[in-house]
Parts: sequence; C-alpha cells; structure tokens
Amino acid sequence: MKPQEFRRIVILTGAGISAESGIPTFRDKGGLWEKYRIEDVATPEAFRKDPAFVLEFYNRRRRDLLKVKPNAAHYALARLEREYPGEVLLVTQNVDDLHERAGSRRIIHMHGELLKVRCEGCGHVFKTEEDILTTTPCPSCGKKGTLRPHVVWFGEMPFHLEEIWQALQGCDLFLAVGTSGTVYPAAGFVEIARRAGAWCVELNLEPSAVADLFHEHHYGPATKVVPAFVEGLLQRSKNFDTG
Ligand code: NAD
Repeated sequence: MKPQEFRRIVILTGAGISAESGIPTFRDKGGLWEKYRIEDVATPEAFRKDPAFVLEFYNRRRRDLLKVKPNAAHYALARLEREYPGEVLLVTQNVDDLHERAGSRRIIHMHGELLKVRCEGCGHVFKTEEDILTTTPCPSCGKKGTLRPHVVWFGEMPFHLEEIWQALQGCDLFLAVGTSGTVYPAAGFVEIARRAGAWCVELNLEPSAVADLFHEHHYGPATKVVPAFVEGLLQRSKNFDTG
C-alpha cells in the first residue's frame, strides 16, 4: 500500500459485497439476470408496459432482503467509518440496506433503495417493507397506480451524482468493493479519482472490467478481503497518529 496517510476515503460498493449475505449479484452465475431480462423488469418502458409484473419483481426482492443480514464486509466498512481518523464516505450501487444495518451512516445510494417507494404523481418518497400493488394508494396524495420502486432503472439518471463527483475530486484513497466495473457512470469513478491523484484499490472476487485503472488489487471473497484491508488501514492510521 502507498506509504502515506489518507485524509479522505471514498468507497464504492457493488452487488458483490452483499453476495455472501445471500443477495444474488447481477452478472455472476446464478445471478438475477439469468432469470430475468433487464428489459422486462428494470427499465421505465417495462414499468409502463406491465407495472404489475415489475412491482411483483421488486416485492419479491424486498421480501428476500428482509430475510438476510449484513456480513463481515459490511461491518468492516462501518467500523472504518467509526474508527478512521479521516473522512470516510460510502457510495453504493446497491439498493439493499445492509450497509445501514451494519452501522454505516455516511452513505449515498446512487441507484436508490429497495425499501423506499416513490409516487410518480406527487413525487412523495416513503419507506416501506410492504408489497406495492397497482391498487396501492399513495399515502400523500391518495392516487392509485402511481407508486413505483425508488430505484434507478436502466436509462435513468443515478442520484446524487454532483455530490459524488465532488467527493471523488477531493479524495486521496478510492476503494471499489464487489463491483464488476461494467455499469456506468459508477465504473468511471476510478478514472475521476485517479486523475484527482487518489490511490485506487480494487477489492473483488476477480479482476473487474476496469481493473487496470487501479494501483492495488486484493482478490477473494468480500468477507475475507474487506475486513483484512480495513484492519490494515486502521493499524496504519494508529501509527500515523502516534507519529
Ligand atoms: P455486478 O453483478 O455487475 O458485479 C458483481 C461483482 O461482484 C463481480 O465483479 C463479482 O466478481 C463480484 N463478486 C461476486 N461475489 C463476490 C464476493 N463474495 N466477494 C467479492 N466480490 C464478489 O454488480 P455491480 O457492479 O454492483 O453492478 C451494478 C448493478 O447491480 C447496480 O445497478 C446495482 O444496483 C445492482 N445490484 C444491486 C444488488 C444489491 O442491492 N445487493 C444486487 C444485484 C444487483
């Protein structure tokens, strides 16, 4: 690892960090998209064509999410935020809430949240663990047939991009965890951070599509490599603190 103290860390996480909790990733064998076609469930066009089918897909994912727990990798990143003397910002592509359940607080969900629903009529966003049907009324405006998952579908703009861009410009350590480097704009974050002078580290099961852009790589299951990397970072920060 680069011999310097890091003051601002930005961590990008993807589906791989939640895989060992039992949430299928997008592209791995047995992943979600072997069973569903993206165009049928994760685009605005699909929702317009068959809202009941799309809502049921997300109802099922929401129910599955309530049955799983954070793993050692989620806990390690929460510990890093708590104990690291510098700033730590987590940017996740995941729509699950496992980072929050593990204790992370400074977190941006750039692709939305499965446990939130939005009314396309009045814009109201609310938390729910319940199934959403085409007949479910919006709790704010009362309209039916206007509720949709508060997630970013293919062809839609991710949330909070300006805030993320600012953080990437100002970070000196960029970590990418469990992400394949194939979904943009997240896959391009390493380039922004690298150009801004950050040390870039990839923690993944295998080399991602953008692996060459990272200075350092640790390959293996997230529950092993993330806690080990965080432990190293915290140990080094203690040495810096004590001179
Ligand atoms: P992806 O499926 O494209 O890639 C997952 C990556 O994780 C792969 O590179 C794979 O090698 C790696 N991986 C698999 N198991 C791992 C493990 N045990 N430890 C470490 N790494 C492991 O996922 P992505 O890059 O996040 O793709 C982006 C899209 O996936 C986003 O739009 C995101 O919203 C969506 N997604 C989210 C969830 C979730 O919320 N948990 C689940 C599936 C997909």
